[in-house]
Amino acid sequence: MERSFKKEVQALTLGEGETFRGEGILAVTKALLQSGVSYVGGYQGAPVSHLLDVLVDAEDIIGDLGVHLETCTNEASAAAMLGASINYRLRGAVTWKSIVGTNVAADALSNLASPGVVGGVMIILGEDYGEGASVIQERSYAYAMKSSMWLMDPRPDLPTIVRMVEEGFELSEASHAPVMMELRIRACHVTGEFKAKANRRAAFSGKNRLAGPPRFDYGRLAHPPAIYSQERLKVEQRLPAAQQFIRTRKLNEVIAGDLADVGIIVLGGLTNGVLRALARLDLADLHGASRIPLYVLNVGFPLVPEELREFCAGKRAVLVVEEGSPDYIEQAVNVELRRADIATRVLGKGMLPRAGEYTSEVLLNALASFLVEVRPAGIDADAIATRVKSMLAHKASAVAAVGDIPARPPNFCTGCPERPVFSAIKLMQRELGPTHISADIGCHSFATFAPFSLGNSILGYGMSLASAAAVTPNMDRRPIAVMGDGGFWHNGLITGVASNLFNKGDGVLIVMKNGYASATGQQYLPSSAANRLGAPTGMTIEQTLRSLGVTWLRTVRSYSVAKMTKTLKEAMRTAERGLKVIIADGECQLARQRRVRAEDAEKLKRGKRVVRVRFGVDDEICTGDHSCIRLSGCPSLTVKPNPDPLRSDPVATVIESCVGCGLCGEVAHAAVLCPSFYRAEIIRNPNWWDRALHRVRATIIGAFAPRRAEARA
Ligand code: SF4
Ligand code: SF4
Repeated sequence: MERSFKKEVQALTLGEGETFRGEGILAVTKALLQSGVSYVGGYQGAPVSHLLDVLVDAEDIIGDLGVHLETCTNEASAAAMLGASINYRLRGAVTWKSIVGTNVAADALSNLASPGVVGGVMIILGEDYGEGASVIQERSYAYAMKSSMWLMDPRPDLPTIVRMVEEGFELSEASHAPVMMELRIRACHVTGEFKAKANRRAAFSGKNRLAGPPRFDYGRLAHPPAIYSQERLKVEQRLPAAQQFIRTRKLNEVIAGDLADVGIIVLGGLTNGVLRALARLDLADLHGASRIPLYVLNVGFPLVPEELREFCAGKRAVLVVEEGSPDYIEQAVNVELRRADIATRVLGKGMLPRAGEYTSEVLLNALASFLVEVRPAGIDADAIATRVKSMLAHKASAVAAVGDIPARPPNFCTGCPERPVFSAIKLMQRELGPTHISADIGCHSFATFAPFSLGNSILGYGMSLASAAAVTPNMDRRPIAVMGDGGFWHNGLITGVASNLFNKGDGVLIVMKNGYASATGQQYLPSSAANRLGAPTGMTIEQTLRSLGVTWLRTVRSYSVAKMTKTLKEAMRTAERGLKVIIADGECQLARQRRVRAEDAEKLKRGKRVVRVRFGVDDEICTGDHSCIRLSGCPSLTVKPNPDPLRSDPVATVIESCVGCGLCGEVAHAAVLCPSFYRAEIIRNPNWWDRALHRVRATIIGAFAPRRAEARA
């Protein structure tokens, strides 16, 4: 894993009344244990990867409570796990990144929500929406609405988050519906403290197993004709029960304010941003007290009509703050107020943008517009608008002063084993011409940026081969689909490979076998050398492909650019029909560096020999055409001024961060570039042979040195 939580997970053992201090995501884990869960699981993805990583690091602690942990192979398998709570009073929680993960899980979620649950179910969604997002911008709200699951969006503050987890299970049980809890990146990483409770052992768990299944009940199946009555149950019983629970337990909050003729209705997760913007306008303080009343929706769906009416009654106007589109809450507020014949004006989109993250700047502008529009009694709205203008004016002057700043897209890590594969694709294309590249989700999608700019479509995680299915029969040249081993196990095996074989497809698939789900922080995969417990998994990509019937299969070391180029050419030109799979084999460099650094430190401590490889460029040979940089894109391979006063072109140079992967040398060789690259070994604790070799080399080089000096003179 990218980050170890071994130290932090000790906080999960805190008992009644002790103070928990830490990050939001760790607080969620503690709240799950305080809630008496019987099982937890999920699939990694930003911003909730750490939740799963924490659970893995806390396996001993949760094991003592009898809690089962499942590191699922995709979100569909995590959602299906929740089926345990349909028949049994087992509380369970799973996690994944939304919206993409919710899309993958949608089938199981519909089939879970229809019969409903008797044990509390919580789905913790990493809501990856906004400027730091790594996926398409959509909201999870639609899933909650369409499937009748309740959507919590807690205010990013630890006591609130913990209370919502605990009460969320009760809400689920009281209404027999699954509960989703969305956590934005800031909620995951917000720090704070709360008074802990003792962890609860569930009535039934691995420590106290169920005696057997319940009496057969067809109504527990999401199957006709039961689904017709289940649909009625959703709206006639579960929804009112949920609304009643939310109201009775006061899950939503009202922050009173003296400017009572107006108000703000805000989704819980956005509350801190709104309060901060109000504070900058002297309309709130740092402790969360506000002059404008706030109705904080810790539960975004369902809305509670009575609460909404009470909040809006007597107000001339309210501003609804919800990110993204459609404006689900604004529409619902309008409907409820019209039904109740309350004439409060509802403002939202228009004051606020229809798309994009509600940053501090966006909120300041929106609040100023709202206040000028509705002019609450007791404040000078024009003065506030002028103030906002002057607060934000510095930005325009900063942009003017600095000028255009080039974009800095993400890139492969230094020494990444996936980079050489794209160098090879470029070299192959030089000879055979360009072809369609079906890209995928994962680190390899960085190849869509310069200097590779390879990738014509991205359709989802593990979908690259499937997304080439209709390109192949319509294009002269075979398309190349690229997927990682993470994508392969997540979806690519069935959606791509099985479908291609079943349809007698053609085309080329490259599977990047780096050993981990690297982009999400190095979680283990079915084909990792070992699983999270250190035991061999017994599954390989090669065996799996062969068992399905793939006959054209080559495994090539990722860094062997010449061999990879040759294999690619063969795959593109062979007369053999059918799927051609190249497995690019090379351990994730980030994981390797973490592993090797620890191993080297241990060896050095014991006085053992340690070798570090570095590459370099000979200034005198480098021609300065920079083809090597364009073909490798390694951030450690850069340029420096030419030391030769007679040559003005900067020369290539390798900087200190080089990890010695050898790609630059391989590329120079495969592309027949200048022979300027050299490989050096930095040896610590050298043995007698190293010393002897060094003496011989020094003597030979020393013998040539005077002649070289003479030649220069
Ligand atoms: S995390 Fe690993 S696979 Fe991903 S870019 Fe870095 S080295 Fe490459
Ligand atoms: S400079 Fe060359 S050897 Fe060093 S990390 Fe980059 S590509 Fe690898």
